[in-house]
Amino acid sequence: MRIDLHAHSNASDGTDSPAELVANAVAAGLDVVALTDHDTVAGHAEAAEAVRGTRLTLVPGAELSCRVGGVSLHLLAYLFDPAEPAFAAERELVRTDRFRRGRAVVERCRELGAPISWEQVERIAGTGSVGRPHIASALVEAGVVATVSDAFTHDWLANGGRADVPKHETDPATAVRLVRAAGGVPVFAHPGAVKRGRTVSDQVIADLAAAGLGGLEVDHLDHDEETRARLRGLAADLGLLATGSSDYHGHRKTVRLGEYTTDPAVYEALLAQATGVQPIAG
Ligand code: AMP
Ligand code: FE
Ligand code: FE
Ligand code: ZN
Repeated sequence: MRIDLHAHSNASDGTDSPAELVANAVAAGLDVVALTDHDTVAGHAEAAEAVRGTRLTLVPGAELSCRVGGVSLHLLAYLFDPAEPAFAAERELVRTDRFRRGRAVVERCRELGAPISWEQVERIAGTGSVGRPHIASALVEAGVVATVSDAFTHDWLANGGRADVPKHETDPATAVRLVRAAGGVPVFAHPGAVKRGRTVSDQVIADLAAAGLGGLEVDHLDHDEETRARLRGLAADLGLLATGSSDYHGHRKTVRLGEYTTDPAVYEALLAQATGVQPIAG
């Protein structure tokens, strides 16, 4: 069983449509893939349609933008009821603020001399939940930087960078409770991704565990071996599941689908905690 529990489509900042993502997951030999777009479930219906008749199982999910103590972090949520109103309202709030913030980031980039426009970013993002990676693609198009990841430096879009403008982000303990109340399973995404900016302390993770966190994403491109070992130990100490996943974004990142995976026993334990919706088998 090859299980990848974190992937993005063009419903947020990935480059594959949900159907293309499903086809690529089949081609990569995956048995299970989770669709976890930032703050949106807009890709679920198309992905669910695309898995029919394949050997792939789709785990509907999302990746929520959170912030605590000035540190931004991401919370994965699996198998929640997308219609549960309190959680749906919070996703909507974050998505809406992404537009205000995106315009402000573009304005900052222009003040700093980058010849990009909001119309260009809208074209790149399409109907997707708009984010910094779309603006990074605009900076690449304009020849300001060579690659998307080169746009995530202090000069431009990195957390705290010259053109970074914060968006509304949910307190993570609140987010954990919203996910659980919608029948979902919350998992802390790439908790040790220091290259993205500041990370939270073990105490914050322990507090989230007490609030209902289900797991830590341990095996991830942004974690070195030492970080993985430390997080695996922390998950064991706190009684949390330890997952692994690619965080695939299509051609906006170099990581491949299935490059990091989740142990089948961990996946089964995660399923056992979910009461919102079932995985969709092909
Ligand atoms: P946003 O959700 O608009 O705040 O943008 C955050 C997204 O930017 C993350 O989900 C990643 O896809 C991407 N990102 C963050 N840091 C980096 C980085 N250092 N290199 C490439 N992409 C990044
Ligand atoms: Fe992303
Ligand atoms: Fe993330
Ligand atoms: Zn992600």
